[in-house]
Order: sequence, then structure tokens, then C-alpha cells
Amino acid sequence: MTYQTAGLVLSELTLAAIQAEATRAHLKHGEHSMLSPKRGDGDRLAILVEEVGEVAHELTYDASGPLVCPRDELVRELIQVAAMAATWVEYLEGGAR
Ligand SMILES: [Mg+2]
Repeated sequence: MTYQTAGLVLSELTLAAIQAEATRAHLKHGEHSMLSPKRGDGDRLAILVEEVGEVAHELTYDASGPLVCPRDELVRELIQVAAMAATWVEYLEGGAR
């Protein structure tokens, strides 16, 4: 089974992982999620940057030791960054409401 569609950059597998993470985060955080109208853009930026920081952490010496690329953890954190960014877009564009 192939997940690549001709001409598209992101695979269905990656998009599905982003969707699953965005849904998981929304269900976990409820009224405090990125989709909450109680959140401001400053809150959303803080959430997104926190996730970016976790990507950076995975690349530090402390997280994995020298010259080790924690691929699975890096993928997980990058999906979380993408999910939070996409959820912010969803909020701004009025989707999922
Ligand atoms: Mg994270």
C-alpha cells in the first residue's frame, strides 16, 4: 500500500499522524486546547513554541547523548509542532466549530 499521492508533498501517513495528534491534544486539553475561544494568540504561540522547544530538546546532548539522532522522538515532537500549528490555523479559519 502506498501513501504517496502524485504531486503532493505530504504523505497520507504524515497527515494522518498530524490529525491524530491534533485530535488527541484537543480531547486531552478540552476548553484549554488550541481551539478554545478562551485562548488568545499569545497562548497559542506559547503552546507552539513549547512544542518547538521539545524538538530542540531531543537534539541536545542530554536527551540522547552525543551524535545520536533520536529519530522516533524527533518525529513525535515534529508531529506535535505540526499539529499545534495546524490547529491554530483551524481556529483562525473557523474550522472544527
Ligand atoms: Mg512535544
